[in-house]
Amino acid sequence: MSNKISGIAASAGIAIAKAFVLEEPEYTIDSKKVEDPAAELKRFEDALEKAKGELNVIKDKAKEELGEDKAEIFAAHLLVLSDPELVDAVKDKINNDQVNAESALDEVSSMFISMFENMDNEYMKERAADIRDVSKRVLGHLLGLETRSLAMIDEETVIIAEDLTPSDTAQLNPTYIKGFATDIGGRTSHSAIMSRSMEIPAVVGTKTVTKDIPSGTTIIVDGLAGEVIVDPTEDELQAYKQKLADYQEQKAEWAKLVNEATTTKDGAHVELAANIGTPNDLTGVLNNGAEGIGLYRTEFLYMGRDNLPSEEEQFEAYKTVVEKMEGKPVVIRTLDIGGDKELPYLDLPKELNPFLGFRAIRLCLEEKEIFRTQLRALLRASAFGNLKIMFPMIASLEELREAKNMLETEKSQLQKEGVSVSDELEVGIMVEIPSTAVAADLFAKEVDFFSIGTNDLIQYTMAADRMNERVSYLYQPYHPAILRLINMVINAAHKEGKWAGMCGEMAGDEIAIPLLLGLGLDEFSMSATSILPARSQMSKLSKADLATLAEKAMMAGTSEEVQKLVETYNQ
Ligand code: PEP
Ligand code: MG
Repeated sequence: MSNKISGIAASAGIAIAKAFVLEEPEYTIDSKKVEDPAAELKRFEDALEKAKGELNVIKDKAKEELGEDKAEIFAAHLLVLSDPELVDAVKDKINNDQVNAESALDEVSSMFISMFENMDNEYMKERAADIRDVSKRVLGHLLGLETRSLAMIDEETVIIAEDLTPSDTAQLNPTYIKGFATDIGGRTSHSAIMSRSMEIPAVVGTKTVTKDIPSGTTIIVDGLAGEVIVDPTEDELQAYKQKLADYQEQKAEWAKLVNEATTTKDGAHVELAANIGTPNDLTGVLNNGAEGIGLYRTEFLYMGRDNLPSEEEQFEAYKTVVEKMEGKPVVIRTLDIGGDKELPYLDLPKELNPFLGFRAIRLCLEEKEIFRTQLRALLRASAFGNLKIMFPMIASLEELREAKNMLETEKSQLQKEGVSVSDELEVGIMVEIPSTAVAADLFAKEVDFFSIGTNDLIQYTMAADRMNERVSYLYQPYHPAILRLINMVINAAHKEGKWAGMCGEMAGDEIAIPLLLGLGLDEFSMSATSILPARSQMSKLSKADLATLAEKAMMAGTSEEVQKLVETYNQ
């Protein structure tokens, strides 16, 4: 039997240590009738208070050791504990049904958890994990159970668990906790996100680690390949120690580039920027030496809540980001909801083809009040830094003109109100629909910049749903058709003296980078942890040769031929 267990590579790096299997305490809940609901209410309130006290301590610890953004998860947990929808529902149940607090809490929280879990949206599903985490904490107090404490571990260990809650993850001390592996979870679960920013190697979603690994076994967590090696042989240990040393050496090399400009071997400069979802992502952005923000996906501000964010709330978020970037460019994309990103509270009808439907700019031009509020917040924030506005999913000039008109109207209105707005505000569009790529010369006259959204551009060009496994073979970033479209967009921008960037995943892809440099892309925007490897790769490439490589690639027959061309060039 193989001693390798496969999972999802959630956080890069390699950990070698003894396993510590985190056992869940038994939450056995007996539903009982009670004589004195008032006493039961008091038990519930006491447990709530204890849980709040604990969370406040963990929050402060997380803030001190891990930074403000990690601590916010616990602020969110505290909010769950004060949420009347949950708390009052439990109290009502105790009063009306005369049942014990444990069973009332279990029933109400299970109802909320399954409601969130059944939402067709990854972000909402993660909220179910938050409610589960918080409810267990309160239940633990009601049942008088010991809450497990990871903070007590004081030898080098790899944690094995069914799942790690955010509060578990925040207690991990990287001095002793070398890595972790879980049965469940995905790359977007909170614990995976936290492990990346804490740089603890992690493999999640293995389905079986807790069954396959007893505590005390030596294991290797390979967060680069997404594998766990159980009870490795001496040869395997040596091989992984070497892999770890190579990785550390590579990281040390990359780290030297944090404050460097991004330059090719022959001295050409491009901008390496980061994609963010919330202001909390800024720590990673700054630690990884981003030269700007190339895509701020504002839809996350609208998600995980049950009403629209106010102008003030949005203004604060946008202002924070531009201020923290201290004059570096920040491209903020207006709301891109629809497709796979839903806002349940907008109550939009289900569509047969959501990716081809009522989404992004289409929705904003129809729901004008939502759009106006966002434009005002963006315009106000523009006075505090180098903010650029970008419209998503533009398919026609009419859409662009209408969006720009609305922006102009709001700008004049704000100026009339005496509010300052930047005079140098650039306005650009995402190029993610083939019609816009093909007619890029027309659009280039009416925008300040393009940012190519290849995640969507590829799916629309190849007519292959980016979420559908069965047609994933057609999702081909290196297809000559895609390269030709990118070429058209970059040339059209340059002809009008404008810049062209890319914020789709392709911008950080090792094979694509030489091609994109060769095509003359000006700005590459990617996840923060890809920036230093990309900067290092670019410093070894010569832009002059790459133009020829890109020409050849556009004339190749297939995606595979393009890949071979790049690999041959790299050797
Ligand atoms: C894209 O389509 O390439 C893009 C960056 O937008 P999103 O992934 O948010 O659709
Ligand atoms: Mg897109």
